Amino acid sequence: MKTREEQIAERREQMPKIHRANYDKAMKGRSMKAATKAFCLMCVQWQKEEVRLCTDLACPLYPYRPYKNRANRRSKQRSLGVESENSGKGDNYAG
Ligand code: SF4
Repeated sequence: MKTREEQIAERREQMPKIHRANYDKAMKGRSMKAATKAFCLMCVQWQKEEVRLCTDLACPLYPYRPYKNRANRRSKQRSLGVESENSGKGDNYAG
């Protein structure tokens, strides 16, 4: 049987690099938020949008899942005229 450290290292290698820092934080056992985020992302093969659109309403993590307010936040930012760094990409294209 593999040790905990070996299992963690193996799991870590299987995930996209961008999610490893959050996973490390979760595995230190001091952040339920990081653990929930890591678990939800693993559940849907690391697709943030799939976490947001999760349809398993009976999942115990459903009320706590990350990214659920993402669409609302973007909509509010647009209505307030707040743009992210990449949101204007291609806007100046005149054809
Ligand atoms: S809330 Fe959805 S994405 Fe998160 S663990 Fe449950 S089923 Fe998976």
